Amino acid sequence: MKNVRAVSAAAIVSMIATLCVVSAAALATSTRARGRPYTLRIYVSVKQDASGEQLRALLRPLQAASERLYHATGGMIYIGRVLLRDRRTDGELAFSYRFNRTPHGARNIPMGPAHWWDRTLMHEIGHLKLALWDEYRRKPTCPRCVMALNSYGFCHKGKHRGHTRWRPDCWTRLRQFYRRLPRYAQRARTRGEHAPPIRARIVNTGQK
Ligand SMILES: [Zn+2]
Ligand SMILES: [Zn+2]
Repeated sequence: MKNVRAVSAAAIVSMIATLCVVSAAALATSTRARGRPYTLRIYVSVKQDASGEQLRALLRPLQAASERLYHATGGMIYIGRVLLRDRRTDGELAFSYRFNRTPHGARNIPMGPAHWWDRTLMHEIGHLKLALWDEYRRKPTCPRCVMALNSYGFCHKGKHRGHTRWRPDCWTRLRQFYRRLPRYAQRARTRGEHAPPIRARIVNTGQK
């Protein structure tokens, strides 16, 4: 009888210890994810005949942009899939090795090598997929906002300086379409975490 009691006491202690670990883990994650993340699909066309290696090289900055999006949204939005095709101009992002003007638009956005880096990509994806507007035209611009092209975050209420009268801040706008996003962007929550690798499909036509 004595032994049984000792065993059960030990069992209770270990159960409590397990519960503590579980609840600590729950606490650590409860402030992070709120349900399934939103994964974006992007179609990138490349005007010229590009080699497989050239097409794959375009993925790295897209992965970096995905990482930035991931951190700016508490892990809730990132790029899931990319379709890359050469010798076409109909992509959502329409890349040309010769394009060197400023990309603009919300569909079939023309882009060149000078714009193919994480911040510009994140900004253009903001138009393309997240229904966000430019925030850099009115000065002073919103601080720490990728749509104002000065950072990798999204402006929010109180900090918003852009088109205040009829356009909400980026975060409010995002939450209109992406309801599972947290009320506030909390970058710290995704520290040390990474966006999953993009699942790419490459369609390489032509001679190269
Ligand atoms: Zn823009
Ligand atoms: Zn703003």
